[in-house]
Amino acid sequence: MKVITNISLWQKTRQNLPFDKTLGVVMTMGALHKGHLSLIEQSKKQNDFTLVSIFINPTQFNNQDDLAKYPKTWDQDIALLEAADVDFLFAPCFDEMYPDDYRYKITENSFSQILCGKSRPGHFDGVLTVVMKLLQLAQAHRAYFGEKDYQQLHLIKQMVKAFFISTKIIGCPIIREEDGLAFSSRNIRLSKTAREKARLFAQMFHQNQPLEAIKAMFEQQDIEIDYLEAHCNRRFAAVLIDGVRLIDNLELKK
Ligand code: AMP
Repeated sequence: MKVITNISLWQKTRQNLPFDKTLGVVMTMGALHKGHLSLIEQSKKQNDFTLVSIFINPTQFNNQDDLAKYPKTWDQDIALLEAADVDFLFAPCFDEMYPDDYRYKITENSFSQILCGKSRPGHFDGVLTVVMKLLQLAQAHRAYFGEKDYQQLHLIKQMVKAFFISTKIIGCPIIREEDGLAFSSRNIRLSKTAREKARLFAQMFHQNQPLEAIKAMFEQQDIEIDYLEAHCNRRFAAVLIDGVRLIDNLELKK
């Protein structure tokens, strides 16, 4: 695997890839787990080359403490990516990614204002801006995003349409631990008791009950709710468990 931290070096590498070969990109913030690996597997199946990016994007964090505590497992990530037979890892620093110091940004003003966007002001501006930058740099045929971040996936699909970007956006299913909790980089931060609460959160969230009943179950377990809502035949939740923010979503049966 070729590890590249410098934008001009990546651009040269990209230009030198054979014209008739395809490239898939998987964008991550590191602390890799099976959810990320499923995206990589999908990209490897559908493309000749796979590029993974690791960049903890500060502009999408509205909470500085969350940014400071975001897990970093660089050596383990490299080993996982090597084992997954990834071709390129792009891991730029802030100054490379933001030569404008974030004076320019992408803002969506409808769907980004609810759910995660409502409780994390500016979050989706940061996400959409960094994804746009990475799409421009990758010049990939396909980009893979998880349904775990469903609102993000939807916003990216719409952004690509709005700006005539030719990369195809591919949504991938949520990968869960055996007990039903969705894999997340933040899960590392859960203590043993918080991890047990997180399991209850995932199980209660999946119950075929009205939102009010699920809300009552969360409250009984002392799970702090950020939101629990249904939109477009999908249920969405964000909760705080011992200060760690977890999200989940599922399609509702018709
Ligand atoms: P992150 O590193 O958290 O920014 O995530 C990078 C990509 O991996 C995003 O497209 C996420 O939606 C996706 N992802 C994260 N966790 C999961 C999961 N449990 N299942 C599927 N995709 C995931």
